[in-house]
Amino acid sequence: DEDGNVKATNRFKDHLKASEAASEFSKSKTIAQQRRSLPVFQVRDELMQVVRENQVVIVVGETGSGKTTQMTQYLHEEGYSNWGNIGCTQPRRVAAMSVAKRVSEEMGVELGEEVGYAIRFEDCTSSKTIIKYMTDGVLLRETLSAEDLDSYSAIIMDEAHERSLNTDVLFGILKKVVARRRDFRLIVTSATLDAQKFADFFGSVPCYHIPGRTFPVEVMWSKTPQEDYVLAAVKTVMTCHLKSEGGDILVFLTGQEEIETACYALQERMDHLEQQGVDKPLMILPIYSQLPADLQAKIFEKAPDGVRKCIIATNIAETSLTVDGILYVIDTGFAKTKVYNPKMGMDALQVFPVSQAAANQRRGRAGRTAPGECYRLYTESAFRTELLETSVPEIQRTNLANVILLLKSLKVDNLLEFEFMDPPPQENILNSMYQLWILGALDNTGELTTLGRHMVEFPLDPPLAKLLLFGSDLGCGEEVLTIVSMLSVPSVFFRPADRAEESDAAREKFFVPESDHLTLLHVFQQWKANKFRADWCSRHFLHAKGLKKAKEVRTQLCDIMESQRIKTTSCGGNWDVVRKAICAAYFHNAARFKGIGEYVNCRSGLPCYMHASSSLYGLGYTPDYVVYHELVYTTKEYMQCVTAVDPEWLAELGPMFFSIKVSHTSRLEQRRLEREHKESMAQEMEEARAKKDEREKR
Ligand code: ADP
Ligand code: MG
Repeated sequence: DEDGNVKATNRFKDHLKASEAASEFSKSKTIAQQRRSLPVFQVRDELMQVVRENQVVIVVGETGSGKTTQMTQYLHEEGYSNWGNIGCTQPRRVAAMSVAKRVSEEMGVELGEEVGYAIRFEDCTSSKTIIKYMTDGVLLRETLSAEDLDSYSAIIMDEAHERSLNTDVLFGILKKVVARRRDFRLIVTSATLDAQKFADFFGSVPCYHIPGRTFPVEVMWSKTPQEDYVLAAVKTVMTCHLKSEGGDILVFLTGQEEIETACYALQERMDHLEQQGVDKPLMILPIYSQLPADLQAKIFEKAPDGVRKCIIATNIAETSLTVDGILYVIDTGFAKTKVYNPKMGMDALQVFPVSQAAANQRRGRAGRTAPGECYRLYTESAFRTELLETSVPEIQRTNLANVILLLKSLKVDNLLEFEFMDPPPQENILNSMYQLWILGALDNTGELTTLGRHMVEFPLDPPLAKLLLFGSDLGCGEEVLTIVSMLSVPSVFFRPADRAEESDAAREKFFVPESDHLTLLHVFQQWKANKFRADWCSRHFLHAKGLKKAKEVRTQLCDIMESQRIKTTSCGGNWDVVRKAICAAYFHNAARFKGIGEYVNCRSGLPCYMHASSSLYGLGYTPDYVVYHELVYTTKEYMQCVTAVDPEWLAELGPMFFSIKVSHTSRLEQRRLEREHKESMAQEMEEARAKKDEREKR
């Protein structure tokens, strides 16, 4: 009867609830168990006592010992969150997001509430937040508005061994905070043993070692150098997978493109095996910084029984993220590194051999839970003779314009006196200051100009900030806002390998003949005209997620402009004005026509090429002069995002480089002028400083 049915249903519901509660319970129990099994837990109380007794502590521990996920929680449990937030910086955005998510789960709270994260253009925190993971760049910007970081009671500067540019600058800034605020605690973590240097920098502070347990890892060397390390990696994965049972595989490659190629090749081989009746499944999992967050999280998921995981990663998996259960590491020996190319006068991401220290970190990933194996796809003699012992800190190899702008507005006038752990080469400082001077951010004496002060407010590279400000002056603030936002997100054009022609045709419909920048503007405007619809995006081979991100970035940049009373008016259809604004921000990247598809950089005389994806190239337009957003090295030096400009604009906006007779001025003459400029600027700065010192003495 009906009554009995209802009762039965209710009983069943109760049963469900009870079993749900039970599984909830067992889940939280395993998380607690996991926390207690980490090496850092064994020394929790001792570590917290060292922190109580010392304002600064350096903590050294093997990757995976629990530094990043546990120490913030310990500080919270010890009550440090009673008078401020607990911050933890990461050099990589993926790590900040992933770790915050994990810690929110461990604490059983919603991500973004008690535990949150902040990366550029994405703030996932709230008024409830007490543990905040963030990129080192975000904390550095926070010091602009709160020099003493009053909202924090403790900061963990994580992954200090990476020596990222922002972490290195934070070292100097936080050293001052420590001196001014007795209630403030600083923990610096390192996965390697070079930590004594950090301890010395802060004035002989204690170095705490978390005892780790590691298992031996056998190293297998390549007998000959590999010509194609991606292919070699794929082959090694297959051999490894077929010869052994159990234990996951971790492969190190350098970037998204390689990782996708490898995943595709592996999948193909696996499909082939399956067709032949071999039943040995492999779960192929890529991870790199531009991979959507939900896919990134997959590397931590447990594979079904009998299925082996194969994670294909950039050096994000070297120390920032730890996946349990890896027994095999395949190391190609390469990583993408940002380096300043003095010939081009700019930074470029290039593939370089990793250091010996990094290679050993990679090897260590295989020995966390049991004895493992590491396949090095390079020879033993290459390791000894070609790899540097440790990597060169970023501060010594990249452009410093951003950092200089920031320090200047923090009133660090004399950069040579700022406390750097490893001071950047003076030549490097001067070059970057020169770049800021040609953009109009610094005056002849090295002081911030009004333009420079406005530029600091934007979390953007100086030329992009200038594009916003100059565009606003020319009456196209609305348009440049869109362009800068589109340049701040990964490419929105979707080009699947199996539908290349179709997607290229779709992209061509948006082409603006004179400019890739304007093409981006056009795409965004069309998307807006179509009510920001996602189905419209997929029909036109555009990434809806990317466009949405660009829209968010745009809103944030627009807020900054409005708060500074910078106009965001539109120029309507007069897009020549927009091109002029682009010229004003990028004239240092000007190039002159040489032959179809080929240009030469006006300053360096070096060749640079039009990319096949450029709208100018697509429509066969060959203007005499162009400026470009950046150079990308693949097979050749390709200009990325190109806009045609009038030579008169170059002369008007970049008089230090170009005269009206620009084509007649020889390159040597230009070089000489540039050198003279730099020298006279250095001299004027010196004199200004001497005068200031004298004033202060009196
Ligand atoms: P360390 O900072 O010392 O390298 P972590 O605190 O990052 O160590 O990691 C401690 C443990 O937490 C590791 O065993 C790691 O596998 C686990 N862990 C970290 N993040 C996640 C995640 N998102 N999902 C599951 N486990 C994670
Ligand atoms: Mg860590």
